[in-house]
Amino acid sequence: MRILVSNDDGIQAPGIQALAEALATEHDVTVVAPDRERSATGHSLTLHRPLRADQVPGPAGVRAAWAVSGTPSDCVKLALGALLVAPPDLVCSGINRGPNLGTDVLYSGTVSAALEGVINGVPSLAFSLASFSDQGYERAAEFARQLLRQLHERRLPPKCLLNVNLPALQGDGYAGVRVTKLGVRKYQDSFEHRTDPRGRTLFWLAGEASEEGEAPDTDVMAVRENCVSITPIHYDMTDYALLGTVRDWNVGLTAPTTPQTT
Ligand code: MN
Repeated sequence: MRILVSNDDGIQAPGIQALAEALATEHDVTVVAPDRERSATGHSLTLHRPLRADQVPGPAGVRAAWAVSGTPSDCVKLALGALLVAPPDLVCSGINRGPNLGTDVLYSGTVSAALEGVINGVPSLAFSLASFSDQGYERAAEFARQLLRQLHERRLPPKCLLNVNLPALQGDGYAGVRVTKLGVRKYQDSFEHRTDPRGRTLFWLAGEASEEGEAPDTDVMAVRENCVSITPIHYDMTDYALLGTVRDWNVGLTAPTTPQTT
């Protein structure tokens, strides 16, 4: 398969290096990734300045690697629209440093890179490792390679986006693989207050993920129980359950919609 690999941790991050190298042993891989860390940039695009794309030495076996001065979504959009000579069969994003579970997917550059693939009709996978150390990427990349082998026969639909989270394990292998739904993953946000050298107050977002009240079939629970979690997700955020209710409200025009001149 022709595979486009991107991420949000930057092209030098160990996760993308491991993923691209593992996939390149079996596939035609091109890497197009941010030139620096762009975590938690969500689906943002760069509109008010130009993008630069420099070809750089890539992980072993890849066809080409480009470092782009933009966000993960910029990278995939630019790759599909300008850099790749032929459209890829698959976009793979990651392997992210840290999990992307539940509501994390709304902020995640890793997931957004995959989403950009799907928006353009290319089935995509996002991979995240539930660890902030440099350990575990090789095992996660090997899982990704084997997952692609299993998916190869399945003819993934063009709008298929699989969000894959891998637990960080010290010893034995993963406990299993579960197909899950997104959990809740609320954060106990807190802001550190500091004073800068000029006497102005600054704020720094901190806080911990609270994993209370998670259902057993969620991504959060799967990873907590040392299983690989695979969640099919979609960018259609329509709340279908609420459509009928809102229609029943019969909201209409009750006042003139053009400004009245007096
Ligand atoms: Mn990241």
